[in-house]
Amino acid sequence: AAVGMSRIGLAGLAVMGQNLALNIAEKGFPISVYNRTSSKVDETVERAKEEGDLPLKGYYSPQEFVQSIQKPRSVIILVKAGAPVDQTIETLSKHLEPGDCIIDGGNEWYENTERRAAAVKERGLLYLGMGVSGGEEGARNGPSLMPGGTPEAYYYIEDVVKKVAAQVDDGPCVTYVGEGGAGNFVKMVHNGIEYGDMQLISEAYDVLKSVGGLTNEELHEAFTEWNEGELESFLVEITADIFSVKDDKGDGFLVDKILDKTGMKGTGKWTVQQAAELSIAAPTIAASLDSRFLSGLKEERLEAARIFKEAGVGDILAVKNLDKKALIDDVRKALYAAKICSYAQGMNLIRAKSLEKGWNLNLGELARIWKGGCIIRAKFLDRIKQAYDRNPNLASLLIDPEFAKEMVERQGAWRRIVSLAIEVGVSTPGMSASLAYFDTYRRARLPANLVQAQRDYFGAHTYERIDMPGSYHTEWFKIA
Ligand code: NAP
Repeated sequence: AAVGMSRIGLAGLAVMGQNLALNIAEKGFPISVYNRTSSKVDETVERAKEEGDLPLKGYYSPQEFVQSIQKPRSVIILVKAGAPVDQTIETLSKHLEPGDCIIDGGNEWYENTERRAAAVKERGLLYLGMGVSGGEEGARNGPSLMPGGTPEAYYYIEDVVKKVAAQVDDGPCVTYVGEGGAGNFVKMVHNGIEYGDMQLISEAYDVLKSVGGLTNEELHEAFTEWNEGELESFLVEITADIFSVKDDKGDGFLVDKILDKTGMKGTGKWTVQQAAELSIAAPTIAASLDSRFLSGLKEERLEAARIFKEAGVGDILAVKNLDKKALIDDVRKALYAAKICSYAQGMNLIRAKSLEKGWNLNLGELARIWKGGCIIRAKFLDRIKQAYDRNPNLASLLIDPEFAKEMVERQGAWRRIVSLAIEVGVSTPGMSASLAYFDTYRRARLPANLVQAQRDYFGAHTYERIDMPGSYHTEWFKIA
């Protein structure tokens, strides 16, 4: 490499870009950075100085930025997904040369990546869509990275991303995911799974608090303990922390002062849309999305609460003689079993897309790169990896012998929690959806025979029989 040239470039210096750039520099790869608004360039350069004279150079001109990078160039873009990515590509590609590579690290819709890859290919440029997970902290200290696109483009950045990614017992949390938009698609499903995890945890909280009457101190204790066992994960850990934070603007705990309205940016919705497109049941992830929609109707919910209270249905019914310890134990088991179902849905969605697109994705390897750095990182992912190692063609995580055993061991507790919640009027859409998914999947015979009969009755859609081959139609209305 030419003396003084940067190994790599990064454009887009908001939360993610700034931190990833510092991470790359810290790992010893000289980096050039650029941002549309120059103040963020200054900020990043300042931080690089403060954080130990890191090898990072800031540029205000896209041309000088590109020319400072060694050839063939690798340029990571971390700007708002959608049109800003197109605009940034336009700005930079004027100065890029054939053989150079653009890597979009945003939460981009996978088809946008495929469209852009085809467009820049005409100019001889390579393209990767790389999902980055782990938020601000992950970007700075080790994210989980999901790069997809032209395989040769991955080799441009392999040495960098392997050092920059989170490191776990079996390697860095990065792998070449697959062709085209595979990296973005996998990141999207990761986020959908994240929605599911967060919903299930919030339901566990609701049951413990609203039914069990646990205080924030007790919740903190329970989640801290859970984080030492099978539920050990980043989300359970931060949840435990959240229960210990006092309100700095008033009395009590901060969590109790936060408005119960969830925000979202779209990746959960895309996941559910894709599940529907591919005919993959993802009821737990869909329930978590629906819960976010319903949470948004705060005004309506206040009004509905008032109307139903007047009509005689209060918020929730009280439970007498509740054994708190037993409840905490049951909720833990319900949460774990429901989580297995949610991951089974997410993995099956990834597999269905992989088959449709010919991506040849390795589900076990994806579980492995989620073990560190990302929001859904958890001890549990190692077990998923092992399940796919045992059988790469596993139809569902639910029927892996280890997971099947775990589900069976926890189903009693799981049913008790869902029944209790239904009885007292606390909604547990995620836990219930997971349980229904499990109970549907494990039934040899479903009432779908009746639906087929109805379809044939009103629409002559025909049906198959269990006792002889062929398709049949009955003139039901003449007989009935
Ligand atoms: P962001 O708020 O999504 O985007 C801000 C950045 O986009 C700024 O650098 C901004 O430049 C640039 N930008 C916006 N419009 C532009 C345009 N028309 N032309 C050029 N640049 C434009 O930033 P972020 O939160 O760091 O996220 C970056 C990407 O990573 C997004 O796709 C996001 O979904 C994804 N992501 C975020 C997180 C997270 O925790 N925040 C986690 C994982 C993935 P100016 O400074 O000039 O406005």
